[in-house]
Amino acid sequence: MIGFSLDDEHEALRQTVREFATKVVAPVIGGFYQRGEFPYEIVAKMGKLGLFGLPFPERYGGMGGDYFAFCLALHELARVDSSVAITLEAAVGLGAMPIFRYGSDEQRDGWLPPLCHGERLAAFGLTEPGGGSDIRGGMRTTARLDGDEWVVNGSKAFITNSGTSITSVITVLAITGGSGSRKEISSIMVPAGTPGLDVGPEYSKVGWCASDTRPLAFDECRVPAGNLLGERGRGYAQFLATLDEGRIAIAALGAGLAQGCVDECLRYVAERTAFGHALGHYQAVQFMIADMEARAASARLGWYDAAARQVAGEPVKKAAAIAKLTASQAAMANARDATQIFGGYGFMNEYPVGRFYRDAKVLEIGEGTSEVQKMIIARELGLRGGSSGASGHPADLPAETRVV
Ligand SMILES: Cc1cc2nc3c(=O)[nH]c(=O)nc-3n(C[C@H](O)[C@H](O)[C@H](O)COP(=O)(O)OP(=O)(O)OC[C@H]3O[C@@H](n4cnc5c(N)ncnc54)[C@H](O)[C@@H]3O)c2cc1C
Repeated sequence: MIGFSLDDEHEALRQTVREFATKVVAPVIGGFYQRGEFPYEIVAKMGKLGLFGLPFPERYGGMGGDYFAFCLALHELARVDSSVAITLEAAVGLGAMPIFRYGSDEQRDGWLPPLCHGERLAAFGLTEPGGGSDIRGGMRTTARLDGDEWVVNGSKAFITNSGTSITSVITVLAITGGSGSRKEISSIMVPAGTPGLDVGPEYSKVGWCASDTRPLAFDECRVPAGNLLGERGRGYAQFLATLDEGRIAIAALGAGLAQGCVDECLRYVAERTAFGHALGHYQAVQFMIADMEARAASARLGWYDAAARQVAGEPVKKAAAIAKLTASQAAMANARDATQIFGGYGFMNEYPVGRFYRDAKVLEIGEGTSEVQKMIIARELGLRGGSSGASGHPADLPAETRVV
């Protein structure tokens, strides 16, 4: 295939989500953001629209679409707001997807339908207080088998969707055996409300203020042995694959934010005047917007490419890392320029560009920092070793053993 024209189905989805974002999300999300409040009403409407079930088969209540469709929805949501987009991304890409990919028939039938309808949310607990990039080296959370139960102990940090009133399950990565570089890591599903699971208070965040992110603590937290997700000891490999896909979704989100900056600026420079002309009259402003559009378009092509490879069943590791790296850079640069074009109003909560500015930064951090994306790209190019050269440095280890 050459080119990335959307087929009728994808274009119809794009338009539906665009309309939803502009008519339903845009008018109210600023208030939720300023209050630091999770927008349950909007999430319920997204559920009714089928967004949480987009890439899942109809038998689980899904829409039977593909990963490209899911990313397209994220892109159009993030053009207007990133809090709702990340809520969808984490719920589907990190929460429900591992259950769909690695769960037994019973686990899929039990957990997926309410998740696909957006009535409940799933979360993914990988990062720990001691480190997210070197998660394998820094992991301390354990799960031991005691009769027919797993007993989980430890803590997780920054877990999206983990503390909403509709959160149903958190899949947690834990050490289930071995030690040192031979750690056995498995995925265990911990239902919300399980005794021994303490969901901490919502963080006070710089951005994504209308999304839910919390620390978790596990103290002798017991779940049935059947809550193991997939094969014992395969947890780390499962989540490396999950994160490869997740990066495409974050790239779509970043490209959407970058495009949203262009949307807002085009409106603003047509109205705002200075020195007798609309701002859009001045070439310096036009060039800034032209650069923003070029970044947004390149970022969009990056995730289109990675998502198309995912749908075709091709390897995506390098394409996903490139898409995520470049889209997050585009989002940051566009948010900075959009805020500049808005002048003092860019610094006020009244306009969305200030929100975009605060939301863009985390795209260079979550689901693998920009440095981690560069490690992946370098490794995919066959480059090995690292500046530290020290044993234990992530760059010295085999690709499949490290790096979130
Ligand atoms: C709002 C938000 C939501 C999140 N949601 C989730 C979630 O739902 N689930 C989840 O599991 N996690 C989640 N995370 C965690 C996120 O994935 C981590 O923050 C991220 O992976 C980075 O880990 P860290 O914060 O521990 O930083 P560190 O790993 O401590 O890194 C700190 C800095 O050091 C750099 N660095 C580290 N190692 C190297 C190296 N070898 N060479 C060069 N530079 C290096 C990093 O790039 C970074 O700049 C979320 C984070 C945020 C902020």
